[in-house]
Amino acid sequence: MNYYSTENNNLRRSLRDAVLEGLAPDGGLYMPEKIAVIPKDQLLSFRKKTFQDISKEVAISLFQDDLPESEIIEITESAINFDTPLIEVESGVYVLELFHGPTLAFKDVGARFMARMLGHFTKGLNREINVLVATSGDTGSAVASGFLNVEGVEVFILYPSGGVSELQEKQLTTMGGNITALEVAGTFDDCQRLVKSAFQDPDLTEKITLTSANSINLARFLPQSFYYFNAWARLPEQTEFYVSVPSGNFGNLTAGLVAGRMGLPVKHYIIATNVNDVVPEYLKSGKFNPRASVPTIANAMDVGNPSNFARILDLYGHSHKEISDALSAYAYSDDKLRQGIEKVYRETGYLMDPHGAAGYLALQEFSPKEPGIPGVFLETAHPAKFSKTVEEVIGSEISIPDKLKKASTKEKVSIPLAAEYSEFKIFLEETAK
Ligand SMILES: *Cc1c(COP(=O)(O)O)cnc(C)c1O
Repeated sequence: MNYYSTENNNLRRSLRDAVLEGLAPDGGLYMPEKIAVIPKDQLLSFRKKTFQDISKEVAISLFQDDLPESEIIEITESAINFDTPLIEVESGVYVLELFHGPTLAFKDVGARFMARMLGHFTKGLNREINVLVATSGDTGSAVASGFLNVEGVEVFILYPSGGVSELQEKQLTTMGGNITALEVAGTFDDCQRLVKSAFQDPDLTEKITLTSANSINLARFLPQSFYYFNAWARLPEQTEFYVSVPSGNFGNLTAGLVAGRMGLPVKHYIIATNVNDVVPEYLKSGKFNPRASVPTIANAMDVGNPSNFARILDLYGHSHKEISDALSAYAYSDDKLRQGIEKVYRETGYLMDPHGAAGYLALQEFSPKEPGIPGVFLETAHPAKFSKTVEEVIGSEISIPDKLKKASTKEKVSIPLAAEYSEFKIFLEETAK
């Protein structure tokens, strides 16, 4: 099967080339040319299966034309080695906890899967692949952890010096092995610019093979569809359901839309954002106006120009009407997010992180025409990753999971880098393989 660019349906690639390229050369994002529907009886059988087994079957359905089944199973088994439990928070309101992976954020799912798929594709190459990632925090740690010790892959993580939390910095800089952390004297935007300049420098890309591990990459965004199936399988009854997705670059939401195309009975999608509300604005006005992002307490959703929006437009044939029939969107200020965390904690004892809180609030605000249908919101990170905010809101200390504590005791190792492309290029020429 081929994958086409959202900018030009005639620009097509094999899975392998699309994954190795990341972004299409015309600036578009790759999409599968067909999405196989999972038969009803197979879907029903998911109710008796584990998340890992469901993931394998969904992965086979997605990639069966591209990879041997044994490879798909091997990649998925190794990537999906943790659960995504569904918990009832209030009557008919469920949370899907996506933070049980090694870095305690949902990005572990996509990063771990992509790392293993890339490892598979590099087996056939006699050269190394160099993965470049710019991060403002969570992406970098998930990629660092997911790609650690994958053969044939070198990873370079660029992060803004002083611009990520201490814990996040520890998660990025203590991996060793094939992971190199570059501490850039500049902002996140500078990091992103350096990475983009490298991809667009033919002089460099002739010498070394570069790819990106951001959610523009097919191999990162498609596997995120797995846990939407798990959410449905864990509901007490086999009904349609609503799903609410805290969103920044919209890779997570787009994977949910793909799950729907595969036959998952999602009745309606609900988008939750912080005040960076470019997509909620689009749903209201039909106009997409990207703008500079504003910092919030849900900082992994501080995105002013969501990269996966092109995929959403593509899935609905660019029809604003179809998009607004299928999706609703709500945006929340930091104060509203704090109030949401406080209320749910006080009333139920369940502690949400600021991103999950947006998902919860949006699910509440959405008033369905048919009550009685269960709603699921995605909890994208463990609250301890945002302990300062959360502790202020609930007025007491929370315990930090061992996985986070472990990184904080290790020694930071990073290479300082000026925010100058010429310096980054020399570094890559000398270091990348
Ligand atoms: C990345 C991230 C998001 C946003 O996900 P997108 O796929 O970019 O929409 C939400 N919450 C957390 C905790 C994240 O790390």
